[in-house]
Amino acid sequence: MPTPYAYFRGEVVPLEQAKISVTTHALHYGTAVFEGIRGNWNQDDGCHYLFRLREHFERLAQSSRIMMLNLKDSVDRLCELSVEIVERSGYTEDVYLRPLVYTSSEQLGVRIHNLEHDVLIFVVPFPAYLPDSARCHTSTWRRVNDTGIPPRAKVTGIYANSALAKTEANLNGFDEAIMLNEDGHVSEGSGENIFMIRKGKLITPGPADNVLEGITAATVVQLAKDELGLETVERQIDRSELYICDELFMTGTAAHLTPVVEVDRRPVGTGLPGPLTSKLSNLFYDAIRGKNEKYRHWCTPARVRVSR
Ligand code: PMP
Repeated sequence: MPTPYAYFRGEVVPLEQAKISVTTHALHYGTAVFEGIRGNWNQDDGCHYLFRLREHFERLAQSSRIMMLNLKDSVDRLCELSVEIVERSGYTEDVYLRPLVYTSSEQLGVRIHNLEHDVLIFVVPFPAYLPDSARCHTSTWRRVNDTGIPPRAKVTGIYANSALAKTEANLNGFDEAIMLNEDGHVSEGSGENIFMIRKGKLITPGPADNVLEGITAATVVQLAKDELGLETVERQIDRSELYICDELFMTGTAAHLTPVVEVDRRPVGTGLPGPLTSKLSNLFYDAIRGKNEKYRHWCTPARVRVSR
């Protein structure tokens, strides 16, 4: 039977032993930064491939720096710990690692300085997050601005913004929200970057449109360039362009690469995943499961330990 493990207070322990107090600062004020990392199960190789592990911890370090949170462990150490946790947990299905750097002090008061910070990582089984193709709507909630809470940092507090948008979308019968930024341009989904194909060009909003600088997005940009000879254009996208584009898809660690087939009750293109999206999707899924030698360096293997 798989038993989930966690890295908690400097040790690898069974997840059920990793408990924090109700008075923990981060719980009250959203003063934490996090990552989401996929461990993609490969049945043939009998292991998980942790996708772009290092890049995720490098982004965690950047988020910590922006939020002045002290990340005690090195990127190398966090990578090693992640492999250990997945190996010891014994899952034989897709998993998700959640590293969190948080204000662990148990005193009230809104600030981030002069408080203790800690880092934890845990693993959970994680099936598909979105349906095979998604129906979206434009959210009435605007994406937070860099002048509010910087969205290029994965700050837990920002996810109140994402949660409002996601819940509104779901309660209105859609799979995911597309958020505009304060100046009305397309920003991103509640937990995904967005790409549009128009007149053969692959287009995505740039960092100045208040997006998280996605690791899946960077992967797709590279696959499009290397495998299809398609350069990505980073530019502002109007909401109405989504209604007339040829293809649309979202990318994210949880969402993988998900075609968007409907926006605001208008079909995208033919209303089915488009040809470029499908090509990119095939390339992407092979890469993340370690099935393409050329991109194996993105995949850190974690082998299930038979006896513990
Ligand atoms: N935007 C937001 C708001 C997210 O939460 C995520 C998920 N981390 C993404 C984009 C996609 O980023 P990545 O591909 O690095 O997971």
